[in-house]
Amino acid sequence: MGRAGDSSNGVPSDSTRSFVRIDQIDRQFAPSISIGDRIAAKLGSKLEKRSVHAVNRVSLDIARGQAVGLVGESGCGKSTLGRIVAGILPPSSGTVSIDGEPVMSAQRTPVKTTRRVQLVFQDPFASLDPRMKVRDIIAEGPIAHGLTTKADAETYVRRWLGLVGLDPDLGSRYPHQFSGGQRQRVAIARALAMQPDMLVCDEPVASLDVSIQAQIINLLLKLRRELDLTLLFISHDLSVVHHLCERVAVMYLGRIVEEGPTEQVYAAPAHPYTRALLDSVPKLVIADDVSVTFKPIQGELPSPMNPPPGCHFHGRCPHAVERCRAEVPPLRQIGNARLAACHFAEAVLAETQAAAVT
Ligand code: SF4
Repeated sequence: MGRAGDSSNGVPSDSTRSFVRIDQIDRQFAPSISIGDRIAAKLGSKLEKRSVHAVNRVSLDIARGQAVGLVGESGCGKSTLGRIVAGILPPSSGTVSIDGEPVMSAQRTPVKTTRRVQLVFQDPFASLDPRMKVRDIIAEGPIAHGLTTKADAETYVRRWLGLVGLDPDLGSRYPHQFSGGQRQRVAIARALAMQPDMLVCDEPVASLDVSIQAQIINLLLKLRRELDLTLLFISHDLSVVHHLCERVAVMYLGRIVEEGPTEQVYAAPAHPYTRALLDSVPKLVIADDVSVTFKPIQGELPSPMNPPPGCHFHGRCPHAVERCRAEVPPLRQIGNARLAACHFAEAVLAETQAAAVT
């Protein structure tokens, strides 16, 4: 079972099945001070201390070989969480561990341990050094980590290029000599060549054409099966997550607001934000006529610099009452396998289940 709450929520932790444990991860950023503010400070004005709470005490357990989707609007903190899990950004507090071994904490453990988690970025062109040949890009990390030697690197790289569906002879080319889809395959090969236990994929198909997106998704499905990979798949595309992930976690303004089996959450969400997110996806309706229906989410995403008190979603939620403005809803267990952070999650779930039936 996933665990997207802390132990104080009364959610039982399932250490027997948990492989990757994201425990109470918190990350705040201090925005840079503008020139205007600096001048005002020099003239004697008191500077207001501000920070962006990008990730707010997030916990999540992922079983070995499981694919978990992380969804939410832009700015909800999902990429920041992904970077922390991948070990390229230290959290302000909290730990990430694999099989009980910490791989990232606020004290930033040695980089070598982070080989166990690798990140695939959204833009493969920006993530591959244009001055290096593809075989050198792929071999660099494994040589540094002792997975291969300089003498054996050529053979080692050919194996990974073949595994991602590229011609192993193309290793002597530069990234600009590949198409977008091929570049993303190179980026995946680079990540896999580190022989990780887990891949964090941050919008890996968002910058690709639709036809190429399907190829990359199918490649990830195949690799996951063959290599027994654990996946954290970050995306704003709900249908891709539905296709690829058996569990889904929904983030809103730095917090996980719902988590559970993808089929169940998509069929009947227990949090009003998840429901709004799913309703905002355009759907083709074929009745007497063909039409497209969708319902945009009300209002704007509030500034993470000044999030609303209580439930962060209260300003956009059709169910909000006074209690929501004052009291933070804890992430708590709803039914057997699901968690939701809403004071009225049971009622919302009953409503969405009834709507699904009709
Ligand atoms: Fe809406 Fe209140 Fe639930 Fe927040 S706690 S999602 S405002 S009903």
